[in-house]
Amino acid sequence: MTSSTDVLATPLQFLKGVGPRRGADFEHAGLVTVEDLLYRFPIRYEDRSRLAPIASLKPGQSASVSGRILSCGLRSTRRPGFKIFEALVGDSSGALRVTWLNQPFLRDVFVQGQHVVLFGPVEMRGPGGLQLTNPQYEILDDEEGETIHTGRIVPVYEKTGSVTPKIQRKLVHGVLQRLPADLPDHLPESIRARLDLPSRPAALVAAHFPPDDASLEALNQFATPAQQRLIFEEAFLFQTGVMARRRSAAADRKPVAVHVDDRIRESARRVLPFKLTAGQKQALKEIVEDLQRPQPMNRLLQGDVGAGKTIVALLAALVAMENGLQVAFMAPTEILAEQHFFNISRLLQASRFRVGLLTGATSGAARRQELAEIEAGTIHLVVGTHALVEGDVHFKQLGLVVIDEQHRFGVLQRATLRAKGLHPDALVMTATPIPRTLALTVYGDLDVSVMRDPPPGRLPIKTLAKPESRRDEVYRFLRGQLDAGRQAYVIYPLVEESDKIDLKAATEMADHLAQEIFPTYRVGLLHGRMKQGGKERVMAAFLAAELQILVSTTVVEVGVDVPNASVMIVEHAERFGLSQLHQLRGRVGRDRHQSFCFLLYQAPLSDEARARLKAMTDTTDGFEIADRDLALRGPGDFFGTRQAGVPTFRLVDLIRDRALLEVAQREAAAWFDSAAPTGEPLDRLVRNWEQRFKLIEVG
Ligand code: ADP
Ligand code: MG
Repeated sequence: MTSSTDVLATPLQFLKGVGPRRGADFEHAGLVTVEDLLYRFPIRYEDRSRLAPIASLKPGQSASVSGRILSCGLRSTRRPGFKIFEALVGDSSGALRVTWLNQPFLRDVFVQGQHVVLFGPVEMRGPGGLQLTNPQYEILDDEEGETIHTGRIVPVYEKTGSVTPKIQRKLVHGVLQRLPADLPDHLPESIRARLDLPSRPAALVAAHFPPDDASLEALNQFATPAQQRLIFEEAFLFQTGVMARRRSAAADRKPVAVHVDDRIRESARRVLPFKLTAGQKQALKEIVEDLQRPQPMNRLLQGDVGAGKTIVALLAALVAMENGLQVAFMAPTEILAEQHFFNISRLLQASRFRVGLLTGATSGAARRQELAEIEAGTIHLVVGTHALVEGDVHFKQLGLVVIDEQHRFGVLQRATLRAKGLHPDALVMTATPIPRTLALTVYGDLDVSVMRDPPPGRLPIKTLAKPESRRDEVYRFLRGQLDAGRQAYVIYPLVEESDKIDLKAATEMADHLAQEIFPTYRVGLLHGRMKQGGKERVMAAFLAAELQILVSTTVVEVGVDVPNASVMIVEHAERFGLSQLHQLRGRVGRDRHQSFCFLLYQAPLSDEARARLKAMTDTTDGFEIADRDLALRGPGDFFGTRQAGVPTFRLVDLIRDRALLEVAQREAAAWFDSAAPTGEPLDRLVRNWEQRFKLIEVG
C-alpha cells in the first residue's frame, strides 16, 4: 500500500483476515472498502480499563467483568422447551454465576478455561448471591490483542453476518495503524482551523480507539471532538453537494420566458371561485416571480391538509398557459388525478384552454388520441399520475410541472426531466410538513413557500379516540350527522380478511353497515382493487352526495376533497402511522361544518400506538404532528418505506445531529460562494454526490 488513497480504497475483501465469506457479509451491509469500514461508528463504547473485580460487584448496576470460565452448561427448566445456559466465571477476587436465557447455541460457543469479557446487568440471585443476566460477551485469545480488546475503552461494533464485533475491532485497529498522517482532508483547512476540528486521521483513530482520558458518556452520545468532526465532515460534504446541485441547476435556462400583464391577471381573476387567503396570495406571488425568472423554478409549496394548495397551482398553471406553455399536473393516485381533472376542467370551462387526463386507466384509442393532442399542443394542461413525464408522453412545449402530494418523488422527477433535456418550472406540493432539519437536507435545493392558515370559516376538527367496545356511541353520533345532511368516511386498513392478522375487511363491513346498522342510508365501498372505472363512479357518487357513507381503504388518504363530508371514522386506528392518520383526518373539515374524527382502536394499545393516538387528539396542527411523528419513528421511516430523495448518511443522525447540520449548512454555503467549481468539475461533484448519498436509487 503506497499512497493514502490506496489504503481507503482497498476492498475489504483483500484485508488480511477477511476473505470472500466475510467480504460478502460486509458488502451485504453496504461496506465495500476500508473507507466504508472506518466511517462506520461503533454502536457503543465500553470501558474495559476499569474492569470490576468480581468481589466488588453490586446489584442494580451494569458492569464489565473479565475472567475465566470455570464451568458451563445447558440447563432445562420446568417450562417445556425453555433452556438456560449457565456459566461460572472467576477472576482473582472471586466467582460469579452468569446466565443466558433461551440461547442453547451458547453450548457450542463457550468451553471451560476460556478467557472472557462480559458486560451486562448485575442482579440478585437468591440470598446474597449475584449473577450477570444475558450479558454481552467476548472471548479473548490469550496470546494476542489484549491491548485492543481490553484494558481500555473499547469500541463495540454491530455484528455483520459472520463478522463479530471483536473481528471488526481487530480489522479497524489494523487499518488505523497503516493510516498515513497526511491523509487528504475533505474539509477546507480554513474551516477546520476556525472550528478547531481535529485532523481526519486523528479523528478516525480517536473515534474508534479513544484515548484513555476520553469521557465514556460523551463517546456514547457521539459528542467527542473526534466523532463530531467526522459527523461534521459528512454533513459538510452533503451540503456542498446540495449547493453544487443548486448551482448547476441555476445554469439551466427555460426555453420560453414567462410574462405577466393585466390581461393575464384578469384571466386568472375570472377562474377564481373565491377570495384567496393571505397565505395563498403570498405563495402565488412567490411562484409567479419564479416563473418570470430565466432559471427553472424548483419550489416546494407546503400547506397543511385543506389549506387550499390546488387553486394556487392552478393559477400558476394559468400564467404558464397564457404564455403559450403546457402544464403537467401530477397526482399520486388515480382517484386524485380524476378529482383534479374534474375540478380543473370545471374551473377552466369558460377559458380557451383544454384539459386532458392521462392515467393507467386511459388506454387504447383514447390514449393514442390524448398523446397526439399533447404532442400537437392542442391539450394545454394534462392531469395524470407520475408516468406522465416519464413514459412515451411528448409535449409540444412543456413549461410547468406541478407535482401534488408527491414530495417523495419530486427530486426524481426533476432529474428525469433534466435528463431528457427539459427544463420546465417545477412546483412540488405537500401537506406533510417537513421538520426543519429534514427540510435542510432533503429539500436543501428547493425554495419553500408555506401556507399556514386554512381558508376562512374553518372549525378545528374534533378528534376522539375510542375503544371498539364503544362503537355503538360512534354510530349513534354518526346517524345524527347524516340526518343533518352531512356525509362520512369509514376507513379500513385492508381490503380482504387476512388470516394472519385479525382485520375486518372493508367489504364485509360495508355490507354489515349497509344491511344492519344503516339500512335506511346509502353506503358505498371503495378500494384499490376495484375494476377500472368503478372507483371513479363511486367517488363521483359520493361527491354528488348520492352516497352518504363511504367505506374505504386508504385509497382516499391523500388529496380527496368532498367538502360536505364531516365525519371520519378510522377503524383499527392503532395500525396507522401518525402522518397517515393526519392525512385521513384532513378529508373532513373542508367546509364550514364542524367536523369530527373518530379513531376506533382495539385494546390493549402498544406504547407507540397510544402516543400516536394522543398526538392526534392533542393537536390538529400538521407541523406539531410532523415533529411528533419524526420523534416517534425516526427519520428513516419518516417518509415511508420507499424514501426516495432521503439521503443515506453513514454517520449523521438527523435528529441527534440537528445543530451540527445547521452549522455544516452555513459553512458549506459560505465556502461554496467563495471557492465553488464550475463547468465539468461542478457536474462531477454533483454526480459523485448523488451516488455517495444514494440519491439516485429512488423510485
Ligand atoms: P389542499 O391544500 O389539501 O390540497 P384543497 O386545494 O383541496 O386543499 O382545498 C381544500 C378545499 O378548500 C377545497 O374545497 C377548496 O375549494 C377550498 N378552498 C381553497 N381555498 C379557498 C379559499 N381561499 N376560500 C374558500 N375555500 C377555499
Ligand atoms: Mg390537495
